[in-house]
Amino acid sequence: MTVLHVPDGTDFSLVCDGCGMVVDHLGANLHNWELAWSLLRRHGWIGERSAGGPHGCRRCSASGVLTFDR
Ligand SMILES: [Zn+2]
Repeated sequence: MTVLHVPDGTDFSLVCDGCGMVVDHLGANLHNWELAWSLLRRHGWIGERSAGGPHGCRRCSASGVLTFDR
């Protein structure tokens, strides 16, 4: 489970599956997963397009801690 939703469903956070880094308040700022992920991709995140993950932050991607098929 990579994306954490808050109970009221208005906000969500993304957790790196490599180091556990959390990006908070994505839902509050970007409103939906598609938009949030496209932004994170530009910031170096790698992983599945779906919210189910796995996902890795730029640091894990660069260090080779996480490797994905695509
Ligand atoms: Zn990471």
